[in-house]
Amino acid sequence: MLGFLRFLFRNGGISALGIRNTAVYKRVMKEYLSSHPNCEYCGRDKKLDVHHKIPVSVAPELATDKNNMVTLCRKPQCHFIIGHKGNWKDYNDKISKILSAPNAQI
Ligand SMILES: [Zn+2]
Ligand SMILES: [Zn+2]
Repeated sequence: MLGFLRFLFRNGGISALGIRNTAVYKRVMKEYLSSHPNCEYCGRDKKLDVHHKIPVSVAPELATDKNNMVTLCRKPQCHFIIGHKGNWKDYNDKISKILSAPNAQI
């Protein structure tokens, strides 16, 4: 499947952001959420987002890679701070470390 996505990107058949509207993307996100039904930072099970560790705009080839996903809730300290360091245009490249050691510095 990843090879197929790379093919599409290379050939300009799909834009980095357009992938969010594909059936494959929606299915993988849903699957990820059902296998990770709690915020992976605080454990809450409400208002969840699937966050990409490396954003789709930066690494479209990882858009449907579950290793690049993490469930975070919409409490500011979860998705916004842990996922994006307090800036939606930024992302936290140390998120995997933080989630395995919740008291680590952002
Ligand atoms: Zn949370
Ligand atoms: Zn996010």
